[in-house]
Amino acid sequence: TMHTPMSAPNVTAPDDAVLDALRAVVGPEHVLTTATHDLTAWEQDWRRRHRGRARAVVRPADTAQVAAVVRACAAHGAPIVPQGGNTGLVLGGVPDASGTEVVLSLQRLQRIRALDRDNLTLTVEAGCVLQAAQQAAADAGLWLPLSLASEGSCTVGGVLATNAGGTQVLRFGNARDLCLGLEVVTADGRVWDGLRGLRKDNTGYDLRHLFIGSEGTLGVITAAVLKLVPQPAAQLTAWAAVPSLAAAVALLGVAQRHLGPGLTGFEVMNRLALQLVRRHFPALPQPLTEQDAPYAVLLELSDPEGETHARAQLEASLTHALQEGCALDAVVASSVAQARTLWHIRECIPLAQAEEGLNIKHDISLPVSRIPAFCAQAEVELQRHAPGARLVNFGHLGDGNLHFNVQCPEGADAAAFLRAHEAAINTLVYDLVRAHGGSISAEHGIGRLKAATLPRYQDPVALALMRAIKQALDPHHRLNPGRVLADGQAPTAP
Ligand code: FAD
Repeated sequence: TMHTPMSAPNVTAPDDAVLDALRAVVGPEHVLTTATHDLTAWEQDWRRRHRGRARAVVRPADTAQVAAVVRACAAHGAPIVPQGGNTGLVLGGVPDASGTEVVLSLQRLQRIRALDRDNLTLTVEAGCVLQAAQQAAADAGLWLPLSLASEGSCTVGGVLATNAGGTQVLRFGNARDLCLGLEVVTADGRVWDGLRGLRKDNTGYDLRHLFIGSEGTLGVITAAVLKLVPQPAAQLTAWAAVPSLAAAVALLGVAQRHLGPGLTGFEVMNRLALQLVRRHFPALPQPLTEQDAPYAVLLELSDPEGETHARAQLEASLTHALQEGCALDAVVASSVAQARTLWHIRECIPLAQAEEGLNIKHDISLPVSRIPAFCAQAEVELQRHAPGARLVNFGHLGDGNLHFNVQCPEGADAAAFLRAHEAAINTLVYDLVRAHGGSISAEHGIGRLKAATLPRYQDPVALALMRAIKQALDPHHRLNPGRVLADGQAPTAP
């Protein structure tokens, strides 16, 4: 068979041999099965669109236990699904419906192992929630500049496994750019100790970068060394109404010229995205009287020189933007609380979408220069295909990353709409993304959701190299089978 683990016998026996082996490693109370526990939190994805079935959820306490769990599963031919906070959006970290996959939860590995102030590094275990890692940095007067709306639940391991981006990618890069070292359990249960906090290390292939973004298909991340930066003396947030996407791109240019590396965030949201937030979170305040501009932009400035300097700079750049016509109205948050509220509005968009009902998500990236043309063309084609479909378009414009999401027509049956149109709309959007030189997954990854789609859009040589790497590091397909590389595309076990 394609996946030797799948052919394991008595997979449905409640007390099969692998469970006994796992109990011996982590203690019986940390091997959860449906017989004894409600496994919804581990079996269902964050969007609640898919519910798989786990053979068991196993919760090791440290790296040695993770390695022993991997070896036990290997000995019994059980496939493993590593899981952190289960906030991933592409079904990478939830089990499939087979009932054979063991969910390896990293949640008990949450220690802060070290903070080195002179080296500006933080060493944390994989199950540490991102917010706790941020707090550990802040407690030392430092900053871990990786922030996303799921930071209260997602883990350092998950963030690295998916190479997550966030709102400061524009300045500090993705998770990849913030990681100096890793500790990884390999598919055959060895431990690679690569926990070095070096900014320069050219001693052969960079294994760290191979594991980052591999979505748990090549190894299990158990700890990481993360880069920190000094906390800026001041951070200011501004909100601007803009007449079009082209104007938003022009405003980005103005902000980059005026603020230089101080510009740490630049988010865009269309009118419908904000209307949905108002509808589902009516208690949130409105930033501007100009509520119905086609787009709004959120800017963040981080300034080592302090608040007065930051405010003068930000106001000067916004004044310039208003004069140039790329902004209709703008406001600079006057307090930290107000700035938080502005970010909160932005972060409520995915939640408002979920409240509004099922929708089709596209996490795409394009050269910034192509975004206005892409969106104009995609909207026309979308309306031609599905008249009345509502586009919720928002994202990290500074990184060329849009969440180009589609909601059913107002009042329509969302489930029926998705059944009828989801596949065709995906193809329409992704084909156009390719035509404009973009990517079909900017930050959420491939998982199972896009594994069958990837071959259509990925360079064939790149795909072949990816398969060769999988074959070299996990020849028996024990780790996250069918994720990233779909079953039919995967190499066979020797
Ligand atoms: P999980 O969901 O548990 O796992 C994700 C993938 O990583 C799975 O394939 C899993 O098998 C693998 N994995 C997890 N832990 C490990 C490990 N220790 N070793 C090896 N593999 C592992 N993503 C962004 O990039 N930018 C955003 O701005 C962003 N915003 C979000 C907002 C919301 C509201 C939500 C729900 C999600 C958002 N995401 C975003 C997606 C998600 O939060 C990130 O991908 C996050 O990094 C996932 O972390 P997690 O711990 O929840 O991982």
